[in-house]
Amino acid sequence: MSSNRREFIKFVVAGSVAAGCPIDFLLLAAQPGDAHPPMIEGEDNRICHQVRDGKVFTRPPVSARHDVVIVGGGLSGLAAAYFLRQRDFLLLEKEPHWGGNAYAMEYQGSAYGTGTAFLYNDEYAYGFARQIGLEPLPVDSPDGSLINGEWIADTWGDGLDKLPYPAPVREAFKKFKKEILAIDLDKRAKELYNHPFSDLLRGYPEELKLWWDSYGPSNYGATTEDAAAAVGVIELQAMVAESPHDDRFTWPGGLGAMSNKLVEVLSSKSAERMQSGATTVSVISDKNQVQVTYMQGAELKTVAAKAVIMATPKFITRRIVDGLPAKQTEAMHRIRYIPYAVVNLIFDKPVFNKGFDTWCPGSTFTDITVADWVIRNQPGYKQKYNILTCYTPLREEDRAVLLNDASARRVAANVLRDFQKLYPGSNVDPVEVHLYRRGHPLYMSTPGLFTEVQPLVRQAMDRVFFANTDSEGPESTVSPAILSAQRAVKEAENRLAGKPMAARTTAGD
Ligand SMILES: Cc1cc2nc3c(=O)[nH]c(=O)nc-3n(C[C@H](O)[C@H](O)[C@H](O)COP(=O)(O)OP(=O)(O)OC[C@H]3O[C@@H](n4cnc5c(N)ncnc54)[C@H](O)[C@@H]3O)c2cc1C
Repeated sequence: MSSNRREFIKFVVAGSVAAGCPIDFLLLAAQPGDAHPPMIEGEDNRICHQVRDGKVFTRPPVSARHDVVIVGGGLSGLAAAYFLRQRDFLLLEKEPHWGGNAYAMEYQGSAYGTGTAFLYNDEYAYGFARQIGLEPLPVDSPDGSLINGEWIADTWGDGLDKLPYPAPVREAFKKFKKEILAIDLDKRAKELYNHPFSDLLRGYPEELKLWWDSYGPSNYGATTEDAAAAVGVIELQAMVAESPHDDRFTWPGGLGAMSNKLVEVLSSKSAERMQSGATTVSVISDKNQVQVTYMQGAELKTVAAKAVIMATPKFITRRIVDGLPAKQTEAMHRIRYIPYAVVNLIFDKPVFNKGFDTWCPGSTFTDITVADWVIRNQPGYKQKYNILTCYTPLREEDRAVLLNDASARRVAANVLRDFQKLYPGSNVDPVEVHLYRRGHPLYMSTPGLFTEVQPLVRQAMDRVFFANTDSEGPESTVSPAILSAQRAVKEAENRLAGKPMAARTTAGD
């Protein structure tokens, strides 16, 4: 293909990379451990720019009162609103759309994912999806891998005998699988949650590490050195538990379908209680109420609530909730998040339809999912666009790459370049390339996070309660996001009923 033709491919860059969130410095109490004031960055975000330019927000008088204000309209905040649907709630979301990391988009009527992809049928989210009226569709395709130009089906099942590596390397993959399956996670939890996954890979060949250094960042935000050993064990045990069956489910474009369904259910009765484009800038408690100030359009508003549920990620939460205990702020500060680009290659002809999720160790991107996989065999369905979602987690130190359109576009171009060299037949031009960027979407499941940090960050603060998937762990997935909402709602209900607060609670209690 000539470089001229390639220049005609349309690249679309979307999403924002705000490092913090719009902050009214005057409204914030000093945050222990913050050597510098909060960083304000963000693209196409008027409020951020106003803050950057030195504007100081004032806190207007209370204009409305609610039982519960929920801050953050990702799956966790939406689920909290669903659990509180009989109450007088107000849900505030800074983006113009709902769903956070569970957000699907469309190209000419074909759905594609910008974030979360699938769930397992033994997860809480599976039953929750059905409860809200959404029937999960089976993936039925154990993960393959594309290695040295060859597609290997069911990598950790029959695929192990076919890996295009020398025999000793294939044997090492098999030995590793056997060792990991033999681990009793319950018995060794303390050790495995507090030590790096790389400890378990010691003595194994580089090829194994390369595979997990694709898989880890995509799923739990961390390479083998940075991840807790337990999450690697959980993942491999889950992957092969039912092999060759696959217990995963999803919808076209991934779990954004759950956000859409929740919005549909909630808007039918509570549309006025759901405010998008509403960025919370401060949450300040006194004995009898919590005041939440947010900016919507050019207007600052303050509402009062008997309780507030923070369904925002902690790197934002710690900056806007006033009066957090020092230990809790410090714990929130310890959570690390990776930047993440999701690049959708949109083809107007079939290019890759071999498996749902395919791992590509050694590429710019870690794995590819086929956007319409779960409906491809439905009677009457015809694939109009073959949309391939290329997951492209980045390292923390490369966050700035996503900040401007030119360097973000280069990430997308590199993904396309690597895809076109991936296997014989992949050198095809897409009609469009869409990149969705996020600055801090996936927390890293580092050693100690689940055992030491997360129990601290989710501690209730009189009338302020903490949801979001980063409250729970051990990995950033939608079930903990929803379970954290369930817990926070229960805590808030108890508080409203005047019951004593539990000293320490965990998801699903
Ligand atoms: C690329 C990718 C792939 C993934 N794949 C999977 C998968 O296959 N399966 C799975 O289970 N999970 C997956 N995950 C994880 C899953 O998406 C998340 O765990 C889940 O969506 C988190 O939901 P949440 O509501 O807790 O947080 P978020 O989605 O982060 O929602 C927080 C919301 O708060 C809003 N907000 C922030 N600040 C403010 C403010 N000041 N005022 C108002 N609103 C604010 C944000 O805009 C956002 O909408 C994936 C994640 C990524 C990034």
